[in-house]
Amino acid sequence: MRTTCPRACDPPGARANLTHARARLTIDLGAIVANWKRLGVLAHPAEAAAVVKADAYGLGLLPVASALAKAGCGTFFVAHASEGAALRRILRDGGHAAAIYILHGGPLDAAGLELYQAHDLRPVLASLPELSFWAGALNDHDGLPTSAVHFDTGMNRLGLRAGDVDAARAVSPALVMSHFITSEIPDDPNNAAQMARFASLRRAFPHAKASLANSSGIFLGPKARHDLVRPGFALYGGNPCPGQPNPMLPTVRLDVPMLQFRDVSAGETVGYGARFTARKPMRLAVVPLGYADGFARNGGALDDNPDQGCLALVGQQRCRFVGRVSMDLSVIDVSEVPEAWLTPGTMAQVLGQAVTLDDLATATQRIGYEVLTSLGRRFERVYQTL
Ligand SMILES: *Cc1c(COP(=O)(O)O)cnc(C)c1O
Repeated sequence: MRTTCPRACDPPGARANLTHARARLTIDLGAIVANWKRLGVLAHPAEAAAVVKADAYGLGLLPVASALAKAGCGTFFVAHASEGAALRRILRDGGHAAAIYILHGGPLDAAGLELYQAHDLRPVLASLPELSFWAGALNDHDGLPTSAVHFDTGMNRLGLRAGDVDAARAVSPALVMSHFITSEIPDDPNNAAQMARFASLRRAFPHAKASLANSSGIFLGPKARHDLVRPGFALYGGNPCPGQPNPMLPTVRLDVPMLQFRDVSAGETVGYGARFTARKPMRLAVVPLGYADGFARNGGALDDNPDQGCLALVGQQRCRFVGRVSMDLSVIDVSEVPEAWLTPGTMAQVLGQAVTLDDLATATQRIGYEVLTSLGRRFERVYQTL
C-alpha cells in the first residue's frame, strides 16, 4: 500500500482530480506501530496490548489490527463480541494468533457463548450475573476460552465490587482489570486512590495477570502499569499527556480539495444563519467537508466568536474556517494565501502536522477521541505502511 497523494505543501499542480474531488484521509500504519512500540518500551516489563474498539477508533480495524499483529501485538481489546468475531477473522486470515478480550462481556447467553467459543474470544466479566453464567458454562463445556474480571474502582460504570472477589475467583480468570477515571490529570487524587484499591484487589488473584492503565495511565508511572497496559488513543497519535508536548507520532492526516473561490465584500455574510460577517473584503474557498463527515458544525468562526474556528493549512498559510459548517461543505478564509495556490483541486490540510488531532478537538469543544471516532465514511482512505 503506497500513497501518491498530493500534499498540502506540494507546489500547485499537485491536485485532486476534480471530477472525484473529495477529502482524503491518510492513515500512517507505520506511525501507529511505532507508537505501540514506544508505549511498550515505556511500560516494560508490562506487555502492551492494543485497544481497537470502534473500528480501531475510526481508523479501520482490518489495516490497523493487521499491522499491529504483524509487529507482534499479542493482546487486543474490543468493546463488542461482534467486533471480536470480525477481529478474529482478520487475525486468522493474516496467520496471526492473539488474545482478544471483549470489554463489554455480554451478551452472555447461549448464543453469545457460541460466539465466544467459535471465535476464541475472552469475555471481560463485569457483574455477578455474568460471573455466575460463566462459572456455569465452565462446568458444562470443555475448552471454553479463559476470561478477565473487571473491578470498578471509581468509575461506577461497568465492573464488580470489592465484595465480589470470591465469586470472581470461581471463574479462574486469566486477567484482573480496572479502568482509570482521571488518568489524563496526573496529580488528581483519584489516580492514587484507584491504584491503591486495584493493588489490593489484584492480590486476591495471584495466578492472573493484572491490567489497569489506558493510554494516559501508562504515564502515571510503574504503579499504574502492572502486567498489561491497554492503550487506545495514544496508539492513534492522541496526546496522553494533555498540556505537555505530545510524546506520540501523528497518525492521521486529512486533506480537502478546494472546489471554488469567491470574493466577498465587507458586510456580506457566509453560510446558514448568516452567522459570520466579512469585516473587510475577503477571498473564500469552498471545500467538500461537512458535519456528515464528522467535521463539527461549530468548526467555523462566527460573529460572536471571530477567533474561534478550526484552522487549515493552504500552502504555508494557516487559514480559518468561517461560518456555520453545513452537511457537506464548509468555507475557509484564504484571503492571505498567495494567488498561485488558489486553483480548484489544490488541497487544504485540515488535520496533520500543522493542525493536530487535539487542536482540531479543542477548536470545536470536543476531545480527540471524538474527532477520531467520527471521521467520515466518505473520505478517500489511503493507508501508508512505512
Ligand atoms: C477504551 C478503553 C481503553 C483505552 O483507553 P484510551 O484512553 O483510549 O487509551 C482501555 N480500557 C478500557 C476498559 C477501555 O474502555
